[in-house]
Formats: sequence, C-alpha cells, structure tokens
Amino acid sequence: MLLDTEILVAGPGAAGLTAAIGLAQAGYRVVLAGPADTRPTTRTVALFEGSLRFLGSLEMRDTVEQAGEPLAVMRISDDTGSPFRRPPVSFHAREIGTDVFGYNVPNSVLVSLLLDKARTIENITIRPQLIEQYDFSDDRVIASLDGGDTIKARLLVAADGAASPARRAAGISTQTWDYPQVALTAFLDHPFSHENVSTEFHTRQGPCTFVPLPPQGEHRHCSSLVWLMSRREAERRLTLPVEDLEDEISLAGQYALGQVKLVRPVNSYPMRGLAARRLSGPRIVLIGEAAHVFPPIGAQGLNLGFRDAAHLVEVLAGEAGVSVEDPGEKDITDAYDAKRRLDVGSRTFGVDFLNRTLLNHLPPVDLLRAAGTTALAGIGPLRRRIMQEGMSPQAGAPLVMRNKRRMADCDALPN
Ligand SMILES: Cc1cc2nc3c(=O)[nH]c(=O)nc-3n(C[C@H](O)[C@H](O)[C@H](O)COP(=O)(O)OP(=O)(O)OC[C@H]3O[C@@H](n4cnc5c(N)ncnc54)[C@H](O)[C@@H]3O)c2cc1C
Repeated sequence: MLLDTEILVAGPGAAGLTAAIGLAQAGYRVVLAGPADTRPTTRTVALFEGSLRFLGSLEMRDTVEQAGEPLAVMRISDDTGSPFRRPPVSFHAREIGTDVFGYNVPNSVLVSLLLDKARTIENITIRPQLIEQYDFSDDRVIASLDGGDTIKARLLVAADGAASPARRAAGISTQTWDYPQVALTAFLDHPFSHENVSTEFHTRQGPCTFVPLPPQGEHRHCSSLVWLMSRREAERRLTLPVEDLEDEISLAGQYALGQVKLVRPVNSYPMRGLAARRLSGPRIVLIGEAAHVFPPIGAQGLNLGFRDAAHLVEVLAGEAGVSVEDPGEKDITDAYDAKRRLDVGSRTFGVDFLNRTLLNHLPPVDLLRAAGTTALAGIGPLRRRIMQEGMSPQAGAPLVMRNKRRMADCDALPN
C-alpha cells in the first residue's frame, strides 16, 4: 500500500509524538511510523516549564502533570570529597515567582499518553512498523516499512533515536563519544516524604540524583533514582543482592529519605554523547536523540528535544499559523537548522563540561567548581537567572515556550 503524505515522522518516542501532534494541529497531513516503546521501566523525565508550555499548546499539559510529581526545590550537594567543597545549594521555585520548576514523569507513561492523544487526531496516520529503507530525491522522500507498505512524503522528521536510521540514510554524519560511566535507574519506596525536593549529589563518578515520583500502587512515598557511576561499579552493583543494593542507595542519599526499598528491578544505561554535524539536510530535519545525546545531568535531554519539536512546528506553522505549501523545501529545513544550532550546541557542551569537571580530580578544577557553587549560593540575581534559564530558556526559545513575565519581576523577589 502507498501512503502519500506531507510529513513523515519517523519514531514515536516523546520527541516524535509531540512533533507529529503539533504539525497535525498546524494543519499538515502527518504519518507517524515506528514501534512505540511503552514497556514500563524505571526511567523518568523531569520536564520543566518551557516543555510544559509546549505540552499545553498540544492540549496535553494537565494530563502530563497529573501523571507526574511536582518539583519545587532542586538541591545540589557536593559529595566529591574535594577539599574545596561547599555546603549544599538549594534552588526554590518560589524564588522565581512560581510554585514548581516542573514535573517528573515516568518515560513510558509520557509516551503512552502522547500516543493516546495522537490516535485521536484525524490527520495523523499511525503505522507501528519499523521503517527499513529510505529513498531521497529532490521533491520527496520514500520510506519502505517492514511488511511492505510505502510512504511518500515532502518532509521527513527523523525522531528515531540515537541510532537514527533516517539520519544515516540521509548521510548526515555525527560526532560520537563514550563516557566511562553507566547510569543505574530505580524506582524507590522510602519512609520519609521527599517534600518535592530533587537532590543531585555530585560524586567523583558522576551525579546521583533522587527525584520525586508519584505514588506507585501501594507505595506512598516514592522517588526515582538516576545514579551515574563507573562501569565497574555498575557491574558490581547490578549483581548485588537486592537488600545490599538498597543499603548502598540509602547511603548514597545520606539517608535523607530513610532506608529505601526498590519498587521494581533497576535498569542500566551506558553513557554516550552524540552530536549530529547538521540538524537538517535535503527533505529531512533531525529532532530529539536523533540529533543530540548526552548524560542525564540537570535533566536536559528531552527538554531540549521538545524545543526541537516546538521550533519545527513554529517554522512550519509560521507566526500567522498558515501551513507552507511544500514543508520539505530548502528554506524550511535551513530555517529549522539555523534556529536550533546554538541551543543544541551549547546544551551538549554545557552538560559534557559539567560531567567532565566531576570526573576530573585536579585541584584547579575542584576550585573552579567550588567557586561556581559559591557564586550560585550567594549572588541572588545570578541564581535566579540560572534557575529561569534551566527551567525555561528564553534567548532564542520557541515562542510557545517563552515566559510572559519579565525577569525584572523575579529579581524583586526575596533570596
Ligand atoms: C537515565 C536517563 C534519565 C533521563 N532523564 C531525563 C530527564 O529527567 N529530563 C529530560 O529532559 N531528559 C532525560 N533523559 C533524556 C531523555 O530520556 C531522552 O532525551 C528522550 O527519551 C529521547 O526521546 P526521543 O523521542 O528523542 O528518542 P527515543 O525515546 O529513543 O525514541 C525513538 C523512537 O524511534 C523508534 N525507532 C527506532 N528506529 C526506528 C525505525 N527504523 N523506524 C521507525 N521508528 C524507529 C523507536 O522505536 C522509538 O519509538 C534521560 C535519559 C536517561 C538515559
């Protein structure tokens, strides 16, 4: 069967789903192809205000917030043992005039909710098969699906994850690198309330972060854990008896939540980096992890992927909300690339830099990190600016994510 469409979105992960919904709402005929992964894991995503505004524009904000847990305080604690280390620094959402920075949502729940929404939209056709082959020409892309169907589209949105067969087929090269780290993720039950505080302990092997999670079944007080460590430590911890692993997690969290219990088996993710050399090419744009991958520090990955999707919708819908006749024309793919380049490059660099300062044991690096923490703790306008940028970057952000309030309003709030 041949499906003729305006836009093909390859990959129904969270980035591809939001792009498909936004583009369909802007009036385009969209085919969304690929198998959605809704299997429950212990991976969550913390979504900040900018992402929530984008979800609001897709009529999904309330639904996603109800499935998540609010994050009101973000605490960073230096647990590196460095002689220069500073006391923990806490960032309160109320310092920038809001109740919460964002919500922490299980990844599989987010994908399921977005998929349910996509199914209700008339001009989205969903095909759950893998795309096996692409054929690019001047005026269209033809994709062949597993099972024999063919899709002909004017624009291909590659949202098919880090390995991105679409990006490879378009000949867009990448820079890739490995980190000597593995992230273990877990859902934890604990006796004390998290009080909506997310705590990131910076250790010599990477951050160990406890993030508030909604109650899981009969488990009332829950958090998700993202713990970066050396490969050897990950191998050792993955073979520990459950009670011993629970003891090590409780200790890593300095028993702030009490003695933790695992709610489900842990998952592990090797840490890698990837940066596509271009974010678009003839008849293709890259979004989400097809374009950029970096370690989960400061919860930036999908928030950046949502900015890709929101910018793509903005470029294609235009400020006047008028659809473009040929959504894959060069002006459009070039405009997308130009809008995304700085944000993607600076986030990838920033997260990589922070991760490497933790892995580096040199005293000048420790001193630099301590100086940064001191400045964040003591200089009110700086901390508020950083909170605002982390929660909802303003410079060059998609219009739908921009803050209606002026920073000057926030600067007037108490420290
Ligand atoms: C431990 C951990 C914690 C994280 N925490 C956060 C956080 O708190 N906040 C945050 O913002 N980010 C976080 N991230 C990053 C975030 O999880 C990712 O950025 C995000 O899930 C990537 O979504 P995506 O849609 O780009 O790609 P994916 O989720 O990888 O989706 C790709 C989709 O493409 C499909 N696909 C693959 N091949 C094909 C094909 N040939 N044809 C069709 N479809 C195909 C796949 O089936 C899948 O559905 C974290 C990451 C990790 C590892």
